[in-house]
Amino acid sequence: PRASIDPKLDGTGTFSFEKDVPLWTVDQLKAGEAVVKVEWCSVDPAQRGWLNPTRSYVPPVQIGAAMRAGAVGRIAVLPKDTGKSTLQVGDWVMGTMSWGEYAKVPLKELQKIETDDVVKPTYYLGGLGMPGQTAYWGLHDVGKIKKGETVVISGAAGAVGSIACQLAKIEGCRVVAIAGGADKCRWLQEELGIKEVLDYKDADFKKKFREIGYLDVYFDNVGGEILDMCLTRLNKNARIALCGAISAYNDPSPKGLQSYLNLISQRAKIEGFIVFDYADRYHIAAKEMGDHVRSGQLKLRETHAYGLDKCADALVGMFSGKNTGKMLVKIGSN
Ligand code: NDP
Repeated sequence: PRASIDPKLDGTGTFSFEKDVPLWTVDQLKAGEAVVKVEWCSVDPAQRGWLNPTRSYVPPVQIGAAMRAGAVGRIAVLPKDTGKSTLQVGDWVMGTMSWGEYAKVPLKELQKIETDDVVKPTYYLGGLGMPGQTAYWGLHDVGKIKKGETVVISGAAGAVGSIACQLAKIEGCRVVAIAGGADKCRWLQEELGIKEVLDYKDADFKKKFREIGYLDVYFDNVGGEILDMCLTRLNKNARIALCGAISAYNDPSPKGLQSYLNLISQRAKIEGFIVFDYADRYHIAAKEMGDHVRSGQLKLRETHAYGLDKCADALVGMFSGKNTGKMLVKIGSN
């Protein structure tokens, strides 16, 4: 089966689900291509952006095509000539695939993953994969965090945010986490040990936000009003790592910023980044975070949905905060 989306910004888009798509045979594979049995699909806010027919860092997903997705799975079919690749049928791999039970992927784009009792395959879609890399490079390379600095992180109970909170804490920063709802805030405090947590859905949020004082780094996952509020709280030479703006992804006419002039008065920097630009340095972060996971310093939480037909619901659910930690869909049987 294969799932695809016909998006419409006004919400009338359709989701189609084809049951009888034939599996590729070994004779249909070109040299250097493999078929992967997809086990887990990543669900990412970025997928919403890939549906817009606009200029971006990757081409839009075409109407009728299967939705592009990060995934982990096992090699099912290899071409007769595998060239330099040492991958074997049955190996666990990660890569960019699509919403479907099987994906045809160039061998050179697949990375073998090592799993054991601590490190599960799904971790490579979360803390040890793209969201973890995003948190790591956003904090270190863009935010340039230093011990003792105040780091504010929005979307704090999500995949990227929850890792960013823990990494900033490990670096000795004062972390102020912002998330939606009492359960998520309690998890951040009690399980992840983040002392200062603000619930942006709380009626007193704006008052409590002013009480945090000034910030050195804002790791922005949500954009919109919370970004504007952070612009009023900049220390001199503050940095804003512009990771995402989920509050604006479904809003064709988001409200403009009111407070950007503070960037000038505080000689502050706001900088956008795309995690893929760090691909040649992924191994550095993967090693560090793998060590943190094994030592128990970095906790990875996941929210699971089951079945290919749940992919669209899972994506839509992220926009109302249905996930804590990484949102994943299990494809096929358990
Ligand atoms: P999350 O796991 O954080 O899931 C999204 C969360 O966003 C939801 O759980 C919800 O949490 C929160 N949210 C939804 N709508 C709003 C809103 N209107 N205002 C405030 N919060 C909202 O997703 P990811 O960790 O995968 O991604 C986080 C951000 O990072 C996204 O903006 C994404 O696009 C971006 N990103 C950027 C990358 C890059 O290279 N620059 C790479 C990867 C991700 P709550 O219940 O707390 O509201």
